[in-house]
Amino acid sequence: MSADIVLLARAADYAARQHIAQRRKGERAEPYINHLTEVAALLAEATGGDDATLLAGGLLHDTLEDTDATYEDLEQRFGPEVAALVAEVTDDKSLPKEERKRLQIDKTPGKSRRAKLLKIADKTSNLRSMVTSPPAGWSPERLRDYVVWAEQVVRSCRGLNPALDSAFDAAHADAKRHLG
Ligand code: ZN
Repeated sequence: MSADIVLLARAADYAARQHIAQRRKGERAEPYINHLTEVAALLAEATGGDDATLLAGGLLHDTLEDTDATYEDLEQRFGPEVAALVAEVTDDKSLPKEERKRLQIDKTPGKSRRAKLLKIADKTSNLRSMVTSPPAGWSPERLRDYVVWAEQVVRSCRGLNPALDSAFDAAHADAKRHLG
């Protein structure tokens, strides 16, 4: 449907602008938008592109956490479903990092189907980056901890989409192989 194409083009444009100065943590310092388009492409391929709300959520999933965008901005621009999905996958940044990581493991099982699909695509992209461009300054132990934690978060997202499960498993196995 053409309204879906318009939604996705606008979401990609907005995400690129919001994250314009942001780079990935890895040694290649890739533009942040590369992560967002990778997540959206993973979701599109795995679902046959039949859920524009999910794909828009993929493009926008870090706007609340990492940019000055507000829930109201997203709701006004992209509608209540997209805004609610992004909010669902956004950590509470007022909490310490370790607490936020623990909450992701605890809270993901109660999330919506779309939020779980988004989470598994997000963690797949992050694990791929740990191999191709690991964050500068991370010790091998910290990298390994991340790989273990990502699998714990994703455990409750499994069984919804076989293609996403496979993509995650491949990225996870690759990361384990590279990082020991
Ligand atoms: Zn992300």
